[in-house]
Amino acid sequence: MSDRSGELFDRALAVTPGGVNSPVRAFGPVGGTPRFIERGSGAYLYDADGRDYVDMVCSWGPMILGHGHPAVAEALAGAISRGTSFGAATQGEVELAEEIVSRAPVEKVRLVNSGTEATMSAIRLARGYTGRSLVVKFAGCYHGHVDALLVAAGSGVATLGLPDTPGVTGASAADTVVLPYNDAAAVRDLFAARGSEIACVITEACPANMGVVPPAPGFNETLRSLCDEAGALLIMDEVLTGFRVSASGWFGIDGVRGDLVTFGKVMGGGLPCAAFGGRAGIMERLAPSGPVYQAGTLSGNPLATAAGLATLRACTPEVYSAVDSFAGAVSKLVSSALTEAGVPHHLSLAGNLFTFFMGVGEPVTRFDDAAKQSASAYAAFFHAMLDGGVYLPPSGYEAWFCSAAHDDAALSRISDAAPGAARAAAAALGS
Ligand SMILES: *Cc1c(COP(=O)(O)O)cnc(C)c1O
Repeated sequence: MSDRSGELFDRALAVTPGGVNSPVRAFGPVGGTPRFIERGSGAYLYDADGRDYVDMVCSWGPMILGHGHPAVAEALAGAISRGTSFGAATQGEVELAEEIVSRAPVEKVRLVNSGTEATMSAIRLARGYTGRSLVVKFAGCYHGHVDALLVAAGSGVATLGLPDTPGVTGASAADTVVLPYNDAAAVRDLFAARGSEIACVITEACPANMGVVPPAPGFNETLRSLCDEAGALLIMDEVLTGFRVSASGWFGIDGVRGDLVTFGKVMGGGLPCAAFGGRAGIMERLAPSGPVYQAGTLSGNPLATAAGLATLRACTPEVYSAVDSFAGAVSKLVSSALTEAGVPHHLSLAGNLFTFFMGVGEPVTRFDDAAKQSASAYAAFFHAMLDGGVYLPPSGYEAWFCSAAHDDAALSRISDAAPGAARAAAAALGS
């Protein structure tokens, strides 16, 4: 059998740190050689060696319509024929902003190129607006690789076992306070002690970067009311959940309003595109209408806005119900396979996002609980599924993603592979 992926990885290692452009792609947490993907179609990925897989990563969220959706492909082809970047205002930017404002609880949005840029800019705006420095975040929540937010930051950092990262100075970490997730008492205590210093609380609307760990009932509301009392801003990070778990995002499930909301992933339809938005009175503090500077050569790029707009417009109620029901079916069948094989696990399902914490019997409500999972059980499960033609996230700290293109054939492939993979996980736990 050919090993084009192995050859490409060797070449990549020679010219790129770790052979990849984003850490989790290297398969570090599960071992083995990463697959190099040649193309995607619908629910499937095709690798450089001609193998195909049901894709349960979906580019970490964006591909909610599946790969190569005709409406997105057509919109992109049209945009390419008109030119790829102008560094000037375009109609597509207005239409994408209008689409976002019509779906999500924001009055104005600024388009940027990545989720990291969105959260970084939202924090700068919150600090500029309040004139305060302190940022509150939760352990296990990931908001991109922003200096001030790379403290106890979930998946990528968690699977690498880095408690913190070199290159982030003490000064930029010093203005960040990290609290345990879902711990309302800890948030209350911090506000009682330092409320007047807090610029913002940033939280994943529903965390999915330490595995899926939904907010306890009332937790987001508690953040809302504490921020209101203290004059701090609440930043709801919906980069992952926005336009994926409902037409608006987690807001459609648990309607707590952020003062600022960040978006990314689905809204770019697979191209680099993200946004942050909020009340007009806050957003107008941004340059050029206000003093808080923020800019980008490729922001609102015409290809990205075309792909994003085509994707959002195709995200009908039918799409969400198809994704929800596929997620429900897969989570149920994999959970049964694990139970049958005697693998204790906690299935965490929020909207259409889910994670199996293997080796964990109790509910997972914060990062410390998620960290009790068995990495070796997940690695064994992952490789057995990969051999069975199913591409899962290469880390137990990630959500599984599906698309509206995932159909009965995809489900039956998962169903065929799951029992053997569950037995492999059981063997890893036992050894
Ligand atoms: C992916 C993600 C980000 C970062 O987005 P990038 O486009 O990877 O920079 C920020 N916040 C959350 C919740 C995410 O899932």
